[in-house]
Amino acid sequence: MWPFISSLCVVFLVLAWLRWRRRLGLAQKEIDHQKQRVNELEATRYEVIAHKQAEQEALFNSMVEGVLVLDRDGKIQLANRALDRMFDLHVDIRGKTLLEAFRLHELHDLLPRLWKEGTVPGVELDLPGIERRSLQVNATVVRDAEKNQQGGILVFHDLTRIKELENTRQEFVANVSHELRTPLSLIKGYVETLLNGAQHDPEVSTRFLQTIDKHADRLTILIEDLLTISRLECGQISMNVQSTDVRAVASRVVEDLAMRAQEKNVSVHNRLPELIAQADPQRLQQVFFNLVDNAIKYGNKDGSIILSGRALDGALLEVKVEDDGPGIPEEAIQRVFERFYRADKGRSREQGGTGLGLSIVKHIVHCHGGKVWVTSMAGEGSSFYFTLPAVAV
Ligand code: ADP
Repeated sequence: MWPFISSLCVVFLVLAWLRWRRRLGLAQKEIDHQKQRVNELEATRYEVIAHKQAEQEALFNSMVEGVLVLDRDGKIQLANRALDRMFDLHVDIRGKTLLEAFRLHELHDLLPRLWKEGTVPGVELDLPGIERRSLQVNATVVRDAEKNQQGGILVFHDLTRIKELENTRQEFVANVSHELRTPLSLIKGYVETLLNGAQHDPEVSTRFLQTIDKHADRLTILIEDLLTISRLECGQISMNVQSTDVRAVASRVVEDLAMRAQEKNVSVHNRLPELIAQADPQRLQQVFFNLVDNAIKYGNKDGSIILSGRALDGALLEVKVEDDGPGIPEEAIQRVFERFYRADKGRSREQGGTGLGLSIVKHIVHCHGGKVWVTSMAGEGSSFYFTLPAVAV
């Protein structure tokens, strides 16, 4: 009997052991499975964090404003790309103070105010250097949940372009007022003299009325030029672009200006070959008119003007208006296409110039996708060039 009972016990024990092993195995599997899940969750969490970090970094670096993050000791923790560009930084400034990184006392002096007041809005900074920059800084303190100061954030706005535009606008208004006031005060002066008695002298009154007429014409031209410039700059003039015979347009201008050329005994030669431009014929006529008119105005008496051109590679054509006048001084060459710029103010006014002719030329040529430039040497004439899209002939 005992052997039977003991074998039964052994069998029972073996079975129990096997069951226990199975359970242990299952538990181990479960543990492994849970471990894997935890690892997967952890990996996903890291992925999400890394993705968020990359997103924030991209946002931080794609901002137009420069941003600086400071720690509570005023040391730089982070700076974005816009800030690097604004200050032309080529080194890592993390860990440095504002003074060490930028060497600008105005910026350094901002910190005590920031720590004291919590925000410092709208401080303007002028950066020295070849390209002067104007920046505006807005600073604010960063606090934790318990309102303890953790550091600060400085946001920099680049005001250079806005300031330039504001200067250009002010300059433009000043120039326009000046240009309008000069002929107006002359007209008023002559009218007053006529009213004070000169009207009774037929010879004097005729002369005065002719002068008044001349200045009124000048005002009309100035206003027309101003309107043209402003429409061109605002893109309000629609270009009626079509296949345009360049030589034929130039011929019409030469005819229109024949009287003026004759008055100075200037010969104008249209040596343009057959060139067809993709251009607005009316605007092209204005370009030729302004260039040939200038060549007559500023060229020599008994001089000569040559219009020539050629086809260039890349579906472009180039036109040249050349005179043998006194030329343009070197310092003026870069500026003659600016509004109201005159190399010789006295001569321009005496010739009825508005200072806008070449600026109009530049705008029209640019609207066609072309380029305009001038080469000149004092005493050796000037050559004005422009390019336009060409139509193959
Ligand atoms: P303006 O109405 O004064 O002629 P433009 O814009 O047409 O204005 O020309 C700007 C300046 O460029 C002129 O005032 C003149 O000093 C100079 N300029 C233009 N064309 C010539 C030229 N062919 N020769 C010499 N100077 C020129």
